[in-house]
Amino acid sequence: MLVLKFGGTSVGSVENMSHVKDIINDGQQKVVVLSAMSGTTNALVEISNALKGGNSSLALSLIDALRSKYIEVISHLFEDEMLAVESEQYVRWIFKNIQDCAQEFYTERSYNQIVAQGEFLSTFLFSRFLQQEGINAQLISALDFMRIDRTNEPDMFYIKQNLNRILTETEPADIYITQGFICLDAEGYVANLQRGGSDYTATIIGAAIKATEVQIWTDIDGFHNNDPRHVPDTHAISNLSFDEAAELAYFGAKILHPQTVMPVRDLDIPVRLKNTMEPKAYGTLITNEIHGEGIKAIAAKDDITAIKIKSGRMLLAHGFLKKVFEVFEKYETSIDMITTSEIAVSLTIDDITYIREIVEELSKLGSVEVDSYRTIVCLVGNNIVYHPDTPKLFQIMQDVNVRMIAYGGSNNNISLLINTSDKLETLRKLNRYVFEPELV
Ligand code: ADP
Ligand code: ASP
Ligand code: MG
Repeated sequence: MLVLKFGGTSVGSVENMSHVKDIINDGQQKVVVLSAMSGTTNALVEISNALKGGNSSLALSLIDALRSKYIEVISHLFEDEMLAVESEQYVRWIFKNIQDCAQEFYTERSYNQIVAQGEFLSTFLFSRFLQQEGINAQLISALDFMRIDRTNEPDMFYIKQNLNRILTETEPADIYITQGFICLDAEGYVANLQRGGSDYTATIIGAAIKATEVQIWTDIDGFHNNDPRHVPDTHAISNLSFDEAAELAYFGAKILHPQTVMPVRDLDIPVRLKNTMEPKAYGTLITNEIHGEGIKAIAAKDDITAIKIKSGRMLLAHGFLKKVFEVFEKYETSIDMITTSEIAVSLTIDDITYIREIVEELSKLGSVEVDSYRTIVCLVGNNIVYHPDTPKLFQIMQDVNVRMIAYGGSNNNISLLINTSDKLETLRKLNRYVFEPELV
């Protein structure tokens, strides 16, 4: 069976829903994972933030505005009167639930409840739309099988057991539709797989049912060699290995949720990225195979904090790094980049929940400097460390203030730490040095 995931833009308008219908209606049995319609999760986050800040009148007016948008969608999506009425009742019920959350005392759980509603809305409306078009589809609730454990990892045993049982027990259908992003936590409360998590839902499902392929349908023709939002003239890459895609997604390429390839990598289930608006374009195929050599793509991850620990005690001493790492271990904070000299060690983190405690403990080992608003720029490709073209990227050092470089940690990744304010310029310069050297 195939798993196809459609992102926010792909289900973001009546016209695009119709494209999705044409793509999935090919007689092959499949699971279809949907995100919320574009803009909805952001609007729900805004509603939650208003409630968190105690501004319930703002929250209520945002709820009204979003409800009106959905009533409008229904008026364009359905010619069938009965389905239109049923859908409107459903939409009103969902928004009544959101309003009820607004009356209660705000907690983290209210946030999780509220942001989950976008995927309920899109899957309900789309499944009724398919019914109107005479397509044999069944809606299954992600909350009946998708679950994370106490470490926030997918509970694969639970997911496999329940999803396969549901697929056997549900009336046979050509298309099973379910919600991306949402899940239950270890205690059974509604939770999610973090922003952009529908991609992750798709590969978790792919692994659970041993799919032949997972397809991520979005608003661009595949994985580009640089961030198309910031750099002109980027192009889609036809083939990526799981390792390359994992590094790029982890280091900020928004097209994929950072953990997307993890569930399918060991099972060798291919992931294909496709454009809903241009289904004929090849897209990107992610497999275990390695294609080409040299720098293939560049990505950037913001909100990085750099920490430098300087100590005379490091000189000729052993065991210093162990003590440093123990502090990060204690606060369950993972380190992305690290460089050392004889008297100092610099490293980066993206989770600053325990920064105060970490700095306090590190201060016992030496003097500590903390720099916020940093960005990691990551260059990825097979064997880039040895590739003759790679030295070109060091031309960038003449023009940009590079705070750290990680070179050689793996053969496939070179990372630079820069000021976030230099990001756009750095991405564009690297693009020219690396991908268009004839223009430099
Ligand atoms: P969806 O709603 O379908 O999940 P996303 O907005 O999450 O879509 O991801 C697609 C967007 O990711 C593209 O429109 C593009 O602007 C952005 N993007 C950032 N980096 C890349 C990249 N390297 N390749 C392709 N798209 C990228
Ligand atoms: N709707 C969720 C979000 O906007 C999940 C997703 O789009 O993948 O983050
Ligand atoms: Mg996405």
